[in-house]
Amino acid sequence: MPADLADLIARRRAQGSRLLVWRDASHYDHRGERPCVLCGRPTPLRSHRREPAHKTCAEQWLTDHPGDDRFLSDPPARRSADDHA
Ligand SMILES: [Zn+2]
Repeated sequence: MPADLADLIARRRAQGSRLLVWRDASHYDHRGERPCVLCGRPTPLRSHRREPAHKTCAEQWLTDHPGDDRFLSDPPARRSADDHA
């Protein structure tokens, strides 16, 4: 696991936050919906491990499994690399 990701997880644990940031387009699978691994209902969303999962389901799972890294938020955006404004 990259060090910055581990650091992000550590900070989120310290905050007690279980809300995920899935803003990256890679979390949306345009090929279609698949059954969520947690609730079984169809979803176009994918975790960073490419598991089909609703964001809300993943957040609930994190609440039920504190300290696990099955679902992760996106790392903070690097504005210098992406900001052309
Ligand atoms: Zn679900």
